[in-house]
Amino acid sequence: MDIALMGIGKIATDQHVPAIAASPDWELTATVSRQGTVEGVPAYTDLEKMLETRHDVQVVSLCLPPVPRYGAAVAAIRAGRHVMLEKPPGATLSECHALRALACAHRVSLFATWHSREAAGVAPAKAWLADKVLRKMTITWKEDVRRWHPGQDWIWQPGGLGVFDPGINALSIVTEILPVPIHVNAARLGVPENCQTPIAARLDFSHPDGAEIEAVFDFRQQGTQTWSIIAETDQGTLTLSEGGAKLSIDGQEHGPESDLSLTGEYPRLYSRMAALVQQGDIDMDLSPMRHVADAFVLGRRITVDPFIE
Ligand code: NAP
Repeated sequence: MDIALMGIGKIATDQHVPAIAASPDWELTATVSRQGTVEGVPAYTDLEKMLETRHDVQVVSLCLPPVPRYGAAVAAIRAGRHVMLEKPPGATLSECHALRALACAHRVSLFATWHSREAAGVAPAKAWLADKVLRKMTITWKEDVRRWHPGQDWIWQPGGLGVFDPGINALSIVTEILPVPIHVNAARLGVPENCQTPIAARLDFSHPDGAEIEAVFDFRQQGTQTWSIIAETDQGTLTLSEGGAKLSIDGQEHGPESDLSLTGEYPRLYSRMAALVQQGDIDMDLSPMRHVADAFVLGRRITVDPFIE
């Protein structure tokens, strides 16, 4: 299938372009971006023009930041195209519900991707936790914003999520691996005095059986970067580290499943999108975003030092 990529920036270049190039399902035949291009691929700066003139393009994959993404998704769906959304799937939950309804009405596929759920340790962690009694879960996502998000001013603007931009990846894993739903009961948000979004956050969750669950996100981490989830259960301790790529149980490392024919988070997302289009399905799980929205509603704001890149 012919696919167009919109928003040729960091993630499109680092992950989407190579994943599409390596896939037997897809051919990248158009890009839409004001400045970014992909060598050898016809480039458009205007989405409407691409949609009007390129009827061969059946699918549009949107790699824009969350705030401008909604308008682009609406235009593509109205033009009868299937749409794949980078995470988070929108700036608000309401936008995401509206997109789902629009996709249903136009009978097109819509995929809210959560790339971290495709990390190698996530599926085995989910399987292991399924029959255990959870006692405690500690989620730690600490990274250096200057290193991973240079020049991305949109992160600090309303709708840009701040530290929840990576933090939502942790929440996408947690909502995948836990067999029961949890919800935020308290949050503290550290907001730089010159920004609109948090640079650090702490979330506490209610678990139906009383397990203690906390998440700590921090964008100011220097030195070792940490993306880990530790689950203490009645039958041992599970640790997911490196953003879900590594799994260990009671300190014993578990290698990736041997039958994984398709490796890598983004190749798996594109494979799933191909299946969704073939089956005419929508995959729009909004549970990670619900936790973020709840944290913004419940969170106690603490003003912290200004962020200067
Ligand atoms: P980015 O490089 O800052 O933005 C992607 C591109 O979107 C930009 O290069 C720009 O291209 C276009 N764009 C930016 N602001 C726009 C606006 N207001 N209106 C229209 N187009 C705009 O960001 P990114 O890191 O690729 O992230 C994009 C999305 O992917 C985010 O939702 C992020 O959470 C997600 N993501 C990022 C990473 C990562 O490691 N960076 C990992 C996974 C997921 P033009 O100027 O050429 O139009």
